[in-house]
Amino acid sequence: MPVHAERIARDIQAIAACTPNPGQGSDRPTFSPHWRKARDYVIAEAAKVGCYHRVDAAGNVHIRQKSVDWSTPCWLAGSHLDSVPGGGDYDGVLGVVAALEVLRTAAEEGKNSLPFEAIIFAEEEGTTFGLGMLGSRGWAGTLDAKALRALKNSQGEDYWQAGKPHDTDPAKLEASRLKPSDWLGFLELHIEQGVGMWKRGEKVALVTGINGRRQYAVTFGGVANHAGSTGMGDRHDALAGAAEVVAGLESLASALGARVVATVGRITVEPNAVNVIPSSASLTVDVRAPEDGLLTEADARVRKLVKDAAAKRGLSAEIKQTEALPAVALSAKLADRIRSAAARLTLPPLPETTSGALHDAAILAPLIPTIMLFVASKDGISHNPGEFSRTEDMATATRLLYEAISRS
Ligand SMILES: [Zn+2]
Repeated sequence: MPVHAERIARDIQAIAACTPNPGQGSDRPTFSPHWRKARDYVIAEAAKVGCYHRVDAAGNVHIRQKSVDWSTPCWLAGSHLDSVPGGGDYDGVLGVVAALEVLRTAAEEGKNSLPFEAIIFAEEEGTTFGLGMLGSRGWAGTLDAKALRALKNSQGEDYWQAGKPHDTDPAKLEASRLKPSDWLGFLELHIEQGVGMWKRGEKVALVTGINGRRQYAVTFGGVANHAGSTGMGDRHDALAGAAEVVAGLESLASALGARVVATVGRITVEPNAVNVIPSSASLTVDVRAPEDGLLTEADARVRKLVKDAAAKRGLSAEIKQTEALPAVALSAKLADRIRSAAARLTLPPLPETTSGALHDAAILAPLIPTIMLFVASKDGISHNPGEFSRTEDMATATRLLYEAISRS
């Protein structure tokens, strides 16, 4: 059977060892020595099967078979090797390893001019410079050299300073931009990072869209007063108003469907004292949904929820939208291609899902046909050393990738 599960397992292990404390999860920030070691491992493994590579101006690594020149239109597959601090061994790594295994399999099968390129995107996680998917955004053109220069790491270096030893080059960014006509499509394999598939007993799923996101900053204003002498009917408690939003959001999301999620992740209270009724409560609201229509509906309901909570308690309320990212529909044509590949491999019909998290695929999807495959994450654990996916599931997803891109 083409695509070897044990090679995938070996690659995952080898990359997992590129961290300061092997065996305790992955700590591999972009441009760190361990990140570079992981990147060089993949390049060296690909070179063993007759591949060459180049690094684009944004720091992404591109790998092809030597007989495929850089101007040949290709399928593209890959993901990222950087991890969050104390992260897992599979997030991003799976997509890169799967693309590497496609190159090996092609060599083994004598397909020496497969129109295929493996890519390692730089800085996907966003923990180093405070914003994610920098490599793909730089390549795709949604961030320019100036915007990347404005982003600093904890040592105060900007993206270009930190990336220089790893071949980034602001002067060449414009000229080395992604040209949509150069690509047949992009396929990203990734672990689900949620519990849904694992709970449903699904191994590999077709991802048809990536959730859009709306974020808000909400502030309730009330009246600070004595917690002992103010009767319950005489209060204007800002935190009690915020609490209604926290609870209301849970039912709001469920009412809009299983794929809508809403979170209050941060709340600050004034004066924040044990015996004072809160005069002010500020909270963040994060709502995600796979369709823009659902986000619009959620927007109206969030605003009503805040207004009603304020009216009920005689509070002032202010709501400010702080982010609006549209939902991303992935390519229906590529989805069909994957379904046909699954049928040829005699797999049962693939379950379909949407991605709650953002990925490099979300950046490329508006430019070239893009699709994702998810592999189940054990107990939905991710960004955690306990992250785990089964080798056989990763191999199945990789076989689908190979089958989908190696047939015309
Ligand atoms: Zn990832």
